[in-house]
Amino acid sequence: MATTAFDLSGKVAIVTGGNGGIGLGMAQGLAEAGADIAVVGRNQAKSDVAAAQLRQHGVKAISVAADVTDKSAVNGMVERTVRELGRIDILVNNAGINIRKPPHALELEEWDSVISTNLTSAFLCSKAVHPAMKAAGGGKIINIGSMMSIFGASFAPAYAASKGGIVQFTRSCAVAWAADNIQANAILPGWIDTDLTKRAREQIDGLHDKVLARTPAARWGDIADFAGIAVFLSSGASDFVTGTAIPVDGGFSVMG
Ligand code: NDP
Repeated sequence: MATTAFDLSGKVAIVTGGNGGIGLGMAQGLAEAGADIAVVGRNQAKSDVAAAQLRQHGVKAISVAADVTDKSAVNGMVERTVRELGRIDILVNNAGINIRKPPHALELEEWDSVISTNLTSAFLCSKAVHPAMKAAGGGKIINIGSMMSIFGASFAPAYAASKGGIVQFTRSCAVAWAADNIQANAILPGWIDTDLTKRAREQIDGLHDKVLARTPAARWGDIADFAGIAVFLSSGASDFVTGTAIPVDGGFSVMG
């Protein structure tokens, strides 16, 4: 890519859950724009494959095995990224899970697991990268919400709570760290074809067709739909954009 407001040459991004699904779609966009990438996930073999794929764009990519709910693993992830890639400019808090049960059937351990993977992890990772971003003179934090940041769902009480929370956490970071030239924004994906939603389609009768009928674009999203928004929110093109939550949903959230 030529030098433009969207150029990410010389920048370093950490993408949690970057070894598959939406995280990999964003990592591919960032690599194509010139950023070096640390791919983070628990499954080292899957992350190794993703990192090798990203290196085909001519950038450096490392695979970091870390559980983002574990504070010492998160600190280790940041230290290794700085040691091997030299700096941190971009953090994408994308790792996420769902446990599909109504509130009366959800156990406390299940609630805790979803909240810590989807929400507490964003706090741990953002706090851990803040010193490196501040030292570098600024940075970009991208948090992944959901349509359930806006809507409720009978089968997703902890997931919806975590995704509502992540929008408010994003706004707080945007305000707290504006003076450090760090912009924090959220992306709210609609229904996207990934491993996560393959399981949802198995568990929820008629989900596939209901999503098609409810989405003005009349299709499920693809992971490649997240490359452009990730590059925009990681680049100088978005320097005056902070604290927002941007739907990437084929119109799902504005359908009457
Ligand atoms: P996937 O299941 O394909 O990917 C989830 C990723 O998160 C994997 O890379 C997984 O890697 C990683 N992950 C999960 N738990 C942890 C953990 N404790 N520590 C480190 N990494 C972890 O799902 P999607 O791509 O669909 O989801 C990505 C994000 O997008 C999630 O936050 C999800 O809530 C959100 N989203 C998805 C939507 C969709 O329709 N698909 C809609 C709205 C939001 P590993 O297994 O190696 O740890």
